[in-house]
Amino acid sequence: MAAVEDVIFLGAGASASEGAPVQKDLFREFFRTDRTRRSHPAGIGRLERFFRDFFGIDVRGASSDTMFPSFEETLGILEIAMDRGESFKGYSVASGTPDVQTIREDLIFLIALVLNRTLQSPRGHHRELVNRLDAEGRMLRTAFISLNYDILIDNALTEMHPDIDIDYGVEFTNYHRERDWKVPRKDRSVFLLKIHGSLNWLYCPTCISLTLTPHEREMTRLVEHAVPCEQCGMPMTPIITPPTYLKGLTNYFLHQIMHASSEVLRNARRIIFCGYSFPDADLLVRYMLKRLELNYDPRPDILVLNSYEGKRQTSKVMEEQRYKRFFRHKEQVRYLDMTFSDFCRNGVG
Ligand SMILES: [Zn+2]
Repeated sequence: MAAVEDVIFLGAGASASEGAPVQKDLFREFFRTDRTRRSHPAGIGRLERFFRDFFGIDVRGASSDTMFPSFEETLGILEIAMDRGESFKGYSVASGTPDVQTIREDLIFLIALVLNRTLQSPRGHHRELVNRLDAEGRMLRTAFISLNYDILIDNALTEMHPDIDIDYGVEFTNYHRERDWKVPRKDRSVFLLKIHGSLNWLYCPTCISLTLTPHEREMTRLVEHAVPCEQCGMPMTPIITPPTYLKGLTNYFLHQIMHASSEVLRNARRIIFCGYSFPDADLLVRYMLKRLELNYDPRPDILVLNSYEGKRQTSKVMEEQRYKRFFRHKEQVRYLDMTFSDFCRNGVG
């Protein structure tokens, strides 16, 4: 494998540029556009009740003004309950009502459905990026760390470059079974490290294995029915963790991906943050970067491009400060007034 020179971080802004709803709008987007459609995840009735009980929202009457909680805070609350072995009135296995685990899975399927639907025809920035990197001969010297669950960059890589393999930093059970997916060839592979999980991965909590669902048709199948594990027959679940929820790291596979991310970052000459606002709460990423700085002192150039039309000057200033405040070598941080689509098309030189 060619040595990685550039590590590109893909944040929520990169997906938003393709038409994905931002985190805080995910639920509103689903209930606003999906009520009249026929294909619902099986748990829609449970979720209606959940939003009423937990947040006082009548989803059937939801409008663009309805204030939904964010995906992250909703999932975060449920994850903590599960960790602590606690539950909520009306939501426990013991009383025969939908339990916390079931609601959590319903929410994840809902997110998968929204992203799948809103990203059916992306504007094509990720493809432009892959094309440009290829034309510049940088493809095999670039690694991606994605903070997003969607498969925009995955699709861009596989569709445009069948001769290139994606190395997700973990092994999938179906590497050896499915015709389309093989073990990534070391000299032909590009790292795509998705540290919060991905919609096209199914986790089997019973045999602790990961299955890749290669195509969109598979994704649609999985959001509508629980897919059984081919090894043990027990139901699998998408592997998605909210970014601020540190416990996600305890998952065996996400842990491996974090490790692989630290490894590619060690040798990077440039780290390019795209559409990532570097929120204070995103501790996992900060921890990884701080360990990198302290333990290896690699001093890469740090480029930030996170502009979009209508972005306020004050938020740009605060964002730049957040980046500069964090990194030890301030002079290495370059905050560029550039959009993700500019970067995809033209690069930073
Ligand atoms: Zn299994």
